[in-house]
Amino acid sequence: MTAPLMNTYGRQPIAFSHGDGVWLYDTAGRRYLDCLAGIAVNTLGHNHPRLVAALREQVGRIIHSSNLFEIPLQTELGQKLVDLSGMHNAFFCSTGLEANEAAIKIARKYGHDKGIEMPEIIVYEKAFHGRSLATLSATGNAKVQKGFEPLVPGFIRVPLNDADALRRIASERPNVVAVFLEAVQGEGGIVPARAEYLKTVRELCDQHGWLMMVDEVQCGTGRTGKWFAHQWAGIQADVMPLAKGLSSGVPVGAVVARGAAADVFQPGNHGTTFGGNPLAMRAGLTTLQVMEEDGLLENAAKVGNFIMDTVRQELAGHAGLREVRGMGLMIGIELDRPCGDVVKKALDAGLVLNVTADSVVRLLPPLIFSQAHAELMLDKLLPIIRSVIEQPLAQAA
Ligand SMILES: *Cc1c(COP(=O)(O)O)cnc(C)c1O
Repeated sequence: MTAPLMNTYGRQPIAFSHGDGVWLYDTAGRRYLDCLAGIAVNTLGHNHPRLVAALREQVGRIIHSSNLFEIPLQTELGQKLVDLSGMHNAFFCSTGLEANEAAIKIARKYGHDKGIEMPEIIVYEKAFHGRSLATLSATGNAKVQKGFEPLVPGFIRVPLNDADALRRIASERPNVVAVFLEAVQGEGGIVPARAEYLKTVRELCDQHGWLMMVDEVQCGTGRTGKWFAHQWAGIQADVMPLAKGLSSGVPVGAVVARGAAADVFQPGNHGTTFGGNPLAMRAGLTTLQVMEEDGLLENAAKVGNFIMDTVRQELAGHAGLREVRGMGLMIGIELDRPCGDVVKKALDAGLVLNVTADSVVRLLPPLIFSQAHAELMLDKLLPIIRSVIEQPLAQAA
């Protein structure tokens, strides 16, 4: 028995009592450098003075009113996302999976509106889109799906960065309505879709009337050094789910749409009770405003490159280092072996970070992370990684 909480997480035996900027403090008074940002959520770090002031003010004014009424802050954040993305409109929800669920519904209805009764969506190996039935079915990880069959049908899976696989489907499957991919796979091990590949996806979508749906839940909102990661490829998406970093910790999800996709939903097709409430919208607006005023995109690109360059240099020649990948402050250090124990070693050294896809050390620090913070992190992290990859392989497993 695991009362009072269901046994869904293997948690570290640490509770954080408060945070300040890039620092977290546990209930025993120990300080940690936050290199995870609550899984790419705390864009502005912790306890950011402008965010705290805005939220305090908003809490004293109105928290929730429902989507049965106009919500000026929702219109304002919608406009902001439209301006930053060059897309047309937005729907607000509260989480990443909800944003993806909305995207999947848009794709299906887009198909039905064109007379395609059994619409199919192209999805990817190693993708992660969430844990609702539709989004876990779209996810490319058997562990996430196991035990929850029957899966939602209508997904076709392809490998990432393989343009021929996509072209083959284009010639074989007339019911495809959308391609759904992360611009940078997050849970899958920080694997960017190559710019050339994204351009090819865009071309194929244009040729075949498919929607290009880019899950930017983890890689979006400035984390890679552009507002949205697919913008590095110089293309536009048709549908873009967002969440995680959009609001620095108050739950906010959004799906942003363009062109035909922007007109798919009509009254009665979709909805949410909490989504887009004034408190959530204030958090999103303030986050984006501080990011702009403080140049956090440029900072993410610069500090991210510094971290990746340093890790590559310092670990050059180590056979145990497979690859250092990423964009901006979304970084994966892939080792030649499972390295889950790095999380505990890092905590002991005062670093909060994460390991994903078994063998990838994942760094997702707040976007206020400076070069000095990066140096502090690397001073502690590099010896830990060395100690792991310098062990003989058989022993490590
Ligand atoms: C985290 C994540 C999701 C799911 O978001 P939730 O808020 O946990 O529902 C979906 N897609 C990607 C790419 C993610 O990283």
